[in-house]
Formats: sequence, C-alpha cells, structure tokens
Amino acid sequence: MGNVDLHIHTVASDGALTPLQVVEEAGAKGLIAIAITDHDTTAGIDEALRAAEGTALEVIPGIELSADQGSEEIHILGYYVDHHDAALQKKLDVLRRARRKRARRMVEKLAALGVPVRWERVLEITAESSAFGRPHIAQALKERGYVISANEAFDRYIGLEGPAYVSRYKLTPVEALEMITAAQGLPVLAHSRGQEYRLRELAAAGLVGLEAYYPSYSMKESEALARLAEKHNLIPTGGTDFHGYAGGVTTALGEVGVPPESLERLRTLAKSRTGDVGTRGRSRG
Ligand SMILES: [Zn+2]
Ligand SMILES: [Zn+2]
Repeated sequence: MGNVDLHIHTVASDGALTPLQVVEEAGAKGLIAIAITDHDTTAGIDEALRAAEGTALEVIPGIELSADQGSEEIHILGYYVDHHDAALQKKLDVLRRARRKRARRMVEKLAALGVPVRWERVLEITAESSAFGRPHIAQALKERGYVISANEAFDRYIGLEGPAYVSRYKLTPVEALEMITAAQGLPVLAHSRGQEYRLRELAAAGLVGLEAYYPSYSMKESEALARLAEKHNLIPTGGTDFHGYAGGVTTALGEVGVPPESLERLRTLAKSRTGDVGTRGRSRG
C-alpha cells in the first residue's frame, strides 16, 4: 500500500539514511514520489534529485521548520521549495547556528549543575547535523547514567521548567509560513492532530495543506483531518516522518496511505504559482 511519502528525514538532519539510500529504497518499493523534508536544512536535496534522475521516482524538494507560539511547538513542512534560493539559505543558516548555540549553552548549564556531558558526545549523537535538539542532550545524559530515560532528563534538567533549559530562537508560525512561501514553497502543517484549532489562522497566513496521513493516526483520525482540510480549503497530505529504522521505528518508507490526489493537487498548485515545477531542481542541480 501507499506509493507516496511526503515526509522524510535523511542524514542531512536527524535521519539515519543518506539521501541516496532513501531514493534507492523508495525506488525498490515502487514509490512514485517522495519529499525530502529535513529540519532546517535542504542539504540532502541535490543528492536525492541526482539519485532519482532518469527513474520514475519524483523527488520533491522540501523542508521542515519548527515554530513556537507560547510554549507550544508546531512544525511546518514546505514542498517544492526553491532550495537554491539565497534568502532561504541565509535564514536557514541563522536557525542552524541558533540551535547549535543553544545546545552548547545547555551543556554548559548541565556541567554547572554537576551532571556534565561531553559536547563532543552531543555532536556525535546529533551526527553533525543541523538539527540540534534536546533529545540529543537527553540521550547524552542517559548514557552517563544521570537519568534513566529521556522523560526524566526533560523533567529534571532540560524541560521548560528545568534548571538547564535554554529557550530557543523562535520562529513564529507566520514567519515559518512566510519563509517557505518566499522561496516558492507550499507550506503544510506537519502532524496536524491536536492543532485543529490553529487552522483558520494558519490558512489565512498562507498555509495550503495539513498532514492528515501519519503513522500514529488511525484511519478514522486521518479521515476526520482530511475532511477538516477540505473545510478550510487545504490539501490533506501525509508522510511517514521517516528517520530510518533505528530506535524501534517500524513504519517503513511509504507505508502511510497518502492518496495520489494529494500529490496531484500539490503539484498543480505549485505549477500554478511558478510555472516550472519539475525542471527546477534538475536545471540548477
Ligand atoms: Zn515534525
Ligand atoms: Zn519530521
């Protein structure tokens, strides 16, 4: 089942497979389209586009941005972004630097609290990626035996109320939408369950779709989200949020039942906005 997967991470952020491996696996599974949506970086896209060249697989250049409103975080996916757009790259660089700086400061705070973890180890866990996050620090704490689980690390140290918490440079949801739209991309609300109340506001700010098909959603939930999408004139999309097969992840690439019409509608919309979808990545690769 399923031959479209619009939410995939590679080693360019926190995924386990290289873009080439993702494309090979997608090809072997007979998928017709995939979107590479790494956190805060488009570094994996050219490799994926090259790997898919001359095959039946469409690779959609994408991105996943985090945005905050108050203490809540939402993720915005961008499809068909012009990943060579200079302004986009500049903004992504700012985000990546901010993530790294923040992780470093938390490591410093932990040392001051008497639970030191090695910065080098955090770098290794993050696998040189752009997507420094608190889960990586939680893992380092766990490895040192200071906590027995990531939850405990958040509760005791790096959660919002924790003594080693450092707030992050925050993109607002509207800024994330604008960043994607300015780079010719189509913004879509990632893993949208629980975010239904935001749709009116986000749609008014340029959102074009919501992720309704997602591994942890029941068919009933997906259908309800898809209906809600239509109500707000949004395209229901979906993907596995694939990160590789480590850590007990069992959802395989493509196994999420995205309707092919979703892809068609995204494509049509992208075309109507730019007129040259499908040649963009290749011609500038
Ligand atoms: Zn996400
Ligand atoms: Zn994701």
